[in-house]
Amino acid sequence: MTTTSEQALSPEDIARFGEDPGRSFAANLARVQDRIHAASRQSGRAADSVRLLPVTKTVPAHVLRLAHAAGVHDFGENKLQEARDKQAALSDLAIRWCIIGHLQTNKVKYLVRFAAEFHALDSIRLAEALNRRLDQEGRDLDVYVQVNTSGEDSKFGLAPDALLPFVERLPDYPRLRPKGLMTLAVFSSDHERVRTCFRLLRDLRDKAVAVHPEIAQLSMGMSGDYELAIEEGADVVRVGQAIFGPRPTNDAFYWPGFAPEGSG
Ligand SMILES: *Cc1c(COP(=O)(O)O)cnc(C)c1O
Repeated sequence: MTTTSEQALSPEDIARFGEDPGRSFAANLARVQDRIHAASRQSGRAADSVRLLPVTKTVPAHVLRLAHAAGVHDFGENKLQEARDKQAALSDLAIRWCIIGHLQTNKVKYLVRFAAEFHALDSIRLAEALNRRLDQEGRDLDVYVQVNTSGEDSKFGLAPDALLPFVERLPDYPRLRPKGLMTLAVFSSDHERVRTCFRLLRDLRDKAVAVHPEIAQLSMGMSGDYELAIEEGADVVRVGQAIFGPRPTNDAFYWPGFAPEGSG
């Protein structure tokens, strides 16, 4: 047996993921899939109409090997540097790398080398930079346009009223294949406030699709709210902690200024 690609689990890994991470990931995946199917059926949708995009951020590459073996083949990563490091460590595996976090224009060249999807397109400047690089590499990229549906400063994304003018300009960037819209709902235990964000994205999609027929999918819903998102029409849910367990990092790292409700 070759062990070059296998790294033993450290005590920290075991404390975080258990003795047999592959097995618990598989069990968690099955549970999340069941809940996705149930939520789909409940809202009168086909059981397989919603795609689960597992979010692998903060899970170390050697642990992700076990996730891959357990059936996770699409990896959602928020930070480009982390995704690049993991891609280099896991380049022997067939993985679809999906970048779901805000991207700086100067990082575009790294993204187009390996990413299969980008869920955080939020400016014309970025569209232009991506298109130029993709053209140089001779490839296209699936993209979702991120909208700030909660109105919070801590969230990235276009303001809702900026979306349609933005969508009208997308044909100028033919290397981008627009797939839909993406959002993060407000982090709240008030379901109505969460649903309001998802409904806003759906309404915007219904308008955008009239301008650009490919903008059909809704990428919305995370561990805490994916069932609500499915009831409101999600096509892609991005789920991390419900599969891989709680993260050791504070989410302020991903959403500047983010403070959980009740923490102030
Ligand atoms: C981390 C992250 C998720 C998943 O969050 P969980 O709470 O782990 O399910 C979804 N979308 C984006 C953009 C993220 O950064």
